[in-house]
Amino acid sequence: MPTGPDHLLFVDGEFDEAADGATFETRNPSDGSVIGAVAQAGPADAERAVAAARRAFDEGPWPSMAPGERVRILMRMAEILDERTGDLSTLEARDAGHTVRFANLFTIPIGLLYWRYTVELAGKLDLTEPVPQLGFPAPAWSFVQREPYGVCAGIVPWNFPFIMAVWKSAPALATGNTMVLKPAEYTPLSALELGRAAQDAGLPPGVLNILPGPGPTVGEALVADPRVDKVAFTGSTAVGRRIMRVASDTVKKVTLELGGKSANILLPDADLDVAVPGALWATYLHQGQICHSGTRCLVPRGSYDEVVGRMVELAEGLRVGPAEDFESDLGPLADAKQLATVQRYIEVGQDEGAKLLTGGGRPDGLPEGGWYVQPTIFGEVDNGMRIAQEEIFGPVLSVIPYDTVEDAIRIANDSIYGLAGGVWSRDVPRALEVAKRLRTGTVWVNDYHLVTPAAPFGGYKQSGIGREHGLWGLSEYLQVKYVHVDQTPTKDQKFWYQILGL
Ligand code: NAP
Ligand code: MG
Repeated sequence: MPTGPDHLLFVDGEFDEAADGATFETRNPSDGSVIGAVAQAGPADAERAVAAARRAFDEGPWPSMAPGERVRILMRMAEILDERTGDLSTLEARDAGHTVRFANLFTIPIGLLYWRYTVELAGKLDLTEPVPQLGFPAPAWSFVQREPYGVCAGIVPWNFPFIMAVWKSAPALATGNTMVLKPAEYTPLSALELGRAAQDAGLPPGVLNILPGPGPTVGEALVADPRVDKVAFTGSTAVGRRIMRVASDTVKKVTLELGGKSANILLPDADLDVAVPGALWATYLHQGQICHSGTRCLVPRGSYDEVVGRMVELAEGLRVGPAEDFESDLGPLADAKQLATVQRYIEVGQDEGAKLLTGGGRPDGLPEGGWYVQPTIFGEVDNGMRIAQEEIFGPVLSVIPYDTVEDAIRIANDSIYGLAGGVWSRDVPRALEVAKRLRTGTVWVNDYHLVTPAAPFGGYKQSGIGREHGLWGLSEYLQVKYVHVDQTPTKDQKFWYQILGL
C-alpha cells in the first residue's frame, strides 16, 4: 500500500496532501540524510489556501473577534509550543542545522518570547485615535480606525525557520489578519508545528495556512493572487525585487526584510578582549547564515596586525561539527547549494587578492554527507572587492583596515545594503556619534546580533522596506481608516451649499 508523505500541508485547519500528490525530501544538513517526505504545495494548493484565508477573513469570526479572545487563543498556542520546546529545538537542529546549544538557548526561546510579546502588545493596542479638529472648512469630529489588512502572505527563508514563521504569523494574526505562510523548502518542519499548535489551540480554520513548496511556483502564486492584500517577505534582495515587481500588478502592500553586508567597526579605543571575540560572534553565529551578520570587520590600521592575529587564533579554536553534537560551536551550512556558494566566494576572495588568513576548507573528520566549511577569515580586504560587497551567507569574515574614523564610516556606508552594524569603543558617546552616521536600520554598540521583539527591525537602502517587531511591526499589518462625522446637520450649514449652489 502506498504511504503518504510524513509531513503535510496545513490548509483550512486540516493537514492534507498536495492537490497533485507531489512531495519533496527535506534533509539533515549535518550528514545529508533524508529526514522525511513533505507534501509539496503547488499553485492549486496556493489557490485553496488563499480561498480558505479569504473566507476566514471575510466570513469568519477572527477579524472582528474581541482582542482579548484572540489573545487567549494565541497565548494557548504559545503554551502548546512551549511544551514542545525540546522537540522544536531538535527539529531546528535536524532540519536547519542550528546547533543544539543555539536552538536551546536562543532560537526557540526567542521565538516564543517574540510570539507572546507581540500577541500581548497587539491585545493592548488602542485601535481608534482622535484626529485634531481644524474647524475648516466645516466643523466635524473625526477619528482614525486601525483595521487588519485582510489576507497576508508570509514568505520566509531557511536560516531561522521557526523564528521567521513566528515573525510573520504572530503580528499578522494578533492584529486580526489571516495568513498563508510559505516556509523555505530546505527547512519546512518547525513552521508546520505552528499548524499543529493552531489546531490544538482552537484557532479558527483558515486563519493560518502553511504551504511548504517552491518559491517560484507556490510563493509567486501567493504574491500574484489578487485576493492577497499584503505580502511580508524575508529573503534575498534578488527575490525581494522580484516580489515587488509581481506585487505591483495588484498594488499590494509589501514589507521586505532582505539581505545585508553589515559593517562591524572596531574604533581605535575598542577593548580588544571583548571586541575581537565580538567580531567573531558577529560573523560565525549560525555559520554566518544571518542577514545581519557583521561580515565586514573594519579595523584601525594601527592595531590591524594584533587584531587579525587574535582573530585567527580564536577562529582556529572553534569546533565545527554536527548540529546535534553538544560540543559543536558551529554546525553545517543549511544546504549543499549554500555550501557551494560559500566555497565559490572563498575562491573569488583569493582571486581578488584578499589574503586568506585561516579556514577556507572543509574541517576533517566530519560526516561525509554534511555541508561543512571552516570558519574563514580574509585579511587586507578592499571594500570594493566582491567579498566585501556581496552577501555570502556563510562563516566568512572580511577584515578591512582603515586609517581614520571618517574613512571607517565612509567604508561602512559604501554598500547597497543597510541592515545593521556594530561599533566597539570604550567611549560610548563617541560610539554613538558613529552609530548616528551609519545608514542602517540597527546599530549595536559593544555587542552584536541582539534583536528584541520590542524594538524595530528592518533595513535601509536595499536591505528592505518596512519594519518588524513591536508597535512598528504591528502597524505594518494594520490599515488606517479615516472616519469623518459631520457637525453641520442642516442644509444651510453646509459650506458646499454655497459652492455648488445646491
Ligand atoms: P531567498 O532565495 O530569497 O528565498 C526566501 C524565500 O522566498 C523562500 O521561501 C523561497 O522559496 C521564496 N522564493 C524564492 N523565489 C520566489 C519567488 N519568485 N516568489 C516568491 N517567493 C520566492 O532567500 P534564502 O536564500 O532562502 O535566504 C537567505 C536570504 O534571506 C539572505 O539574503 C538573507 O540576508 C535574507 N534574510 C533576511 C533577513 C532579514 O530580516 N532582513 C532575515 C533572514 C534572512 P524556496 O527557497 O523554498 O524555493
Ligand atoms: Mg532540511
